[in-house]
Formats: sequence, C-alpha cells, structure tokens
Amino acid sequence: MQNITILGATGSIGVSTLDVISRHPDRYRVFALTAHTRIAELAAQCERFRPEVAVTGSAAGASELAAMLRRAGVPTEVLWGEAALCQVASDSRCDTVMAAIVGAAGLAPSLAAAQAGKKVLLANKEALVMSGQLFMTAVADSGATLLPIDSEHNAIFQCLPHDFTRGTGADGHGIAKILLTASGGPFLARAADTLDSVTPEEAVAHPNWVMGRKISVDSATMMNKGLEVIEAAWLFGASAAQIEVLIHPQSVIHSMVSYVDGSVLAQLGNPDMRTPIAHALAYPERIASGVAPLDLTAIAHLRFERPDLQRFPCLKLAYDALQAGGSAPALMNAANEVAVDAFLNRQIGFRMIDQLIARVMDTVPHEPVTEMAGLLEQDRRAREAAREYLKS
Ligand code: NAD
Ligand code: MG
Repeated sequence: MQNITILGATGSIGVSTLDVISRHPDRYRVFALTAHTRIAELAAQCERFRPEVAVTGSAAGASELAAMLRRAGVPTEVLWGEAALCQVASDSRCDTVMAAIVGAAGLAPSLAAAQAGKKVLLANKEALVMSGQLFMTAVADSGATLLPIDSEHNAIFQCLPHDFTRGTGADGHGIAKILLTASGGPFLARAADTLDSVTPEEAVAHPNWVMGRKISVDSATMMNKGLEVIEAAWLFGASAAQIEVLIHPQSVIHSMVSYVDGSVLAQLGNPDMRTPIAHALAYPERIASGVAPLDLTAIAHLRFERPDLQRFPCLKLAYDALQAGGSAPALMNAANEVAVDAFLNRQIGFRMIDQLIARVMDTVPHEPVTEMAGLLEQDRRAREAAREYLKS
C-alpha cells in the first residue's frame, strides 16, 4: 500500500490523480491533500478519500475547512501555509508525493519531498525550471525517485533504455536526440497580426488538453514548450542542441527519442493526463487508468512541422535562458508568471507576454545559482522588474 500526498489536489492534475487512485483502493491510500483556495472542493475530496491531513492556503480557509469537516464527521487534521505544505510533502507517514501545485509556489514543497527521499511524481515543471541543479542534487543526495508527469517527459522516460542513468546523460546510451512534441496550442494557424487581440477565454481553450488556466496560456504562447525544453535538459542530462521541438497538432505522439542507429521510439496515447499519472504511480508496473484505448484507424494521419520562432518568441527565449544557464531560467519563469497573470486579468495583450519576459531578461542580470536564498532573491527581482514594466 502506497501512502500518497497530493500537492494541488483541487487542480486539473490533482483531480486526475484522485481519479486514478480511486480505481485502485488496494494499492493506494491518500495521506494528505492540499488546496490553495477552493475549500468546498477540498472538503468534498476529504469526505471521499479520508486523508490524515489537509492543508489550505490561509488560516481563514483552514477554519472554514475544519468547520465543514466537523459537520461531516471527517476526522482529517487541518493545517495551512507553506510550512505545512513542506511538512506533508516530507512526512514519514507518506511514501509518494504528487507535486501538482502550479508555479513557483510549488518549489518549496516539491523540494521538501525530494530532500526527504520520497517517490516524487513531478507535474510542477516551474519548480524544476527555477531550481534545476539544486533540485537534481537534492534528488541524488536523498536517493529520491523522480518520475515525470508532464506527458512529454513521461513519454521520453518510457522511450529511454531501462538502464538509463542521468549520470551519463543523453550522450551515453546511444541517444542522438530528444524529440519533444508540441500541439502548437490554439493559435497555431491564426494570422500572426491578429494575435494581440486574442482574449483570455480564447487563449485557455486548448484544442486537445483540458488544463489549468496558467499552463493553458503557456501552451498558447508556447512558453509551456520552452519550460519543457529546460525541464527535459535537467531530467535527462541533455544539452539544448540535443532537444528538438516538433509541432504535432494531434497530440497523439507525446514525444520521441531518436537513437544513433536510426531508430526512433515514440510513446502514443489519447491526450489524457491519467495515462502518465498511472504510469508514474505504478512504475515499474502498469495499472489501468480509465483512459480509452487509442483508435489508430480513426486518427489515420499524424502531422508534423517545425515551430515558427517568429510566431512563438517564447520558445526562443527559453532556449536562450537554457544556454545562458545560472538563474536565467528562473528569471524567465518569474517574468512569465507575472505576465500570464496580467494577461489573464486583462491588463496586457497577448503579444505583451513575450515582450515583458524579454525585457526582464535583458535588464535583470542572471547569476550563478549555488543556494536557494540567492535563487529566491533572483525570482523576487525578476517579479519586481516585471511589475515595474507593467506600470509603465
Ligand atoms: P491548476 O491551476 O488546475 O491547479 C493548481 C493547483 O495548485 C490547485 O490545487 C491550487 O489549489 C494549487 N495552488 C495554486 N496556487 C497555489 C499557491 N500559491 N500555494 C499552494 N497551492 C496553490 O493547475 P494544473 O493544470 O493542475 O497544473 C499543475 C501543475 O502541473 C503546473 O505546474 C502545470 O504546469 C503542470 N502540468 C499540468 C498539466 C495538465 O494537463 N493540467 C500537464 C503537465 C504539467
Ligand atoms: Mg506537457
């Protein structure tokens, strides 16, 4: 029986994780659930899954949740705040942590799980993009098992040789290239000169995937793919030159690994996050996920094209940040979080997102990253610079 903490239980990934877990009550028990603000949803999850602990974002949320659980006769302990998130991520009563908080807010608890040597199922890509080396070192030092949930990285992981070790990186094992597929998002075919007038509603309407609002906007700008390039570099020890982005609008092939002998291995499936979630939960075994089998004759054709960096400048910004190294990816991530928030709040147009990120990266100097305090300071500076530009 695996005891599981779900960080970000009320989100898109959190809900899919509970769906998979509910299909296998003999294998999985929920130890802790966390949510930032959606208290009624968290209460309903607690009633159903009876975790030992639930964590909310604020004291007010915690008392509201505690009152609801008392009325329902649910004995779950209720805590709140970042220290409590880190506590449930590292608690000795839990084996596995699903890290599915969105954005930089997920860094501290995801890292706490890694440092505690847990089986870490990593959905929160921003945490790894920000803290790359520090995060991977924590995993290596504690002996944690890090399994990617992001569908592309989960696909790559499945296409790697069984004896793959990050130590030898992508150069070892005869790996020539990692082919990271991208749907291209909702604006792949839209006239570039009309992009500035797109609304938040249009931007979050992804053609293939149902996801949270932030990652949906990231998919529309293709910053999501940029973050994933950096995520892949850390997870698999690959250089920027070894990671190639390929537009594949149907989202059936979730990524590929190309080998020096000419073989290309791919992982295919319907676009439903329950597949990578089930894969990582049960790894190295396989369990049912509730996802329908792929109907290849109904799909019939698979399409591929190269990404247009003029249309999607965020992808180029991410390659630049990866090559610059140090805190550059963290600066980029922070600026992107501020920009996406401003776009969703209708403060700026869609094309201002990449412009704001580029300005922050041009003006805030990146530095080598040796410890967490310095990294968080860089994150803070980038957010401050981004907010200054927004004002002007
Ligand atoms: P979401 O917006 O649906 O859910 C986010 C969750 O994080 C919620 O439970 C929310 O309560 C919690 N949260 C938000 N802000 C918080 C804060 N400040 N402190 C603590 N908790 C907070 O997001 P999602 O789509 O489920 O994505 C979660 C993560 O997984 C993101 O990093 C995203 O990039 C990654 N991811 C998502 C998908 C997907 O299909 N949704 C695919 C790949 C990767
Ligand atoms: Mg992805």
